[in-house]
Amino acid sequence: MKTIGLIGGMSWESTAHYYALINQYIQEKLGGLHSAKILLTSVDFAEIEAHQKKNEWDEITALLLPEAQKLEEAGADFIIICTNTIHKIVPVLAPSLHIPLLHIAEATAEALQDAGIRKAGLLGTKYTLQDNFYGDKLAEYGIETIIPQPEDVDCLNRIIFDELCMAKFCDASKTEVLDIISRLEERGAEAVILACTELDLLIKAGDAGIPIFDTTKIHAEKAAKKAIEK
Ligand code: GLU
Repeated sequence: MKTIGLIGGMSWESTAHYYALINQYIQEKLGGLHSAKILLTSVDFAEIEAHQKKNEWDEITALLLPEAQKLEEAGADFIIICTNTIHKIVPVLAPSLHIPLLHIAEATAEALQDAGIRKAGLLGTKYTLQDNFYGDKLAEYGIETIIPQPEDVDCLNRIIFDELCMAKFCDASKTEVLDIISRLEERGAEAVILACTELDLLIKAGDAGIPIFDTTKIHAEKAAKKAIEK
């Protein structure tokens, strides 16, 4: 079995979920007492988010590249970053590594392709929604994305940072997110992508009228599958 290197802590809530999902997949596939070989480096999210707020992505790369290198030196066979937003820096970070990085949007695009989805609504932080890095990656796979209206982007960002990243789960916020999904559906979304690794803590498959693609589950399972493939 290969060793998966996780860069986590962004937020710790979703990283804990990744840890569980990867282990559940391995146990289900291999049975018995099998569990995943994982190296985890977990950062202080307050430092990262302070840079995100100021649009200081080079500073974030300077903080996270040494974390990735630590995983490499410790023997990870490949790396995953347990957040969608931080994939903005992957084009700069990945070329400095000697081991593969499993991209969350590529894993998600493959899952959408397998399901025959061509047009999907995107939910995530304002960084993921207002910048093209995520939508462009999906477009490489022939998937068109629909971004929520600006007031809905603000609403999602508030729910993600003020509630979900602090382990607060409110019914009113769940209703707000489901309303946003309905508006995306009205605009032609065949499915919705939870492109924030905390959103699946609030919204579950089957909660909306259209299929939900949960990037945390897709990414975690892709990593677990890669760890045990021959
Ligand atoms: N975990 C979130 C994501 O998947 C947000 C945290 C962040 O801004 O990195 O985008």
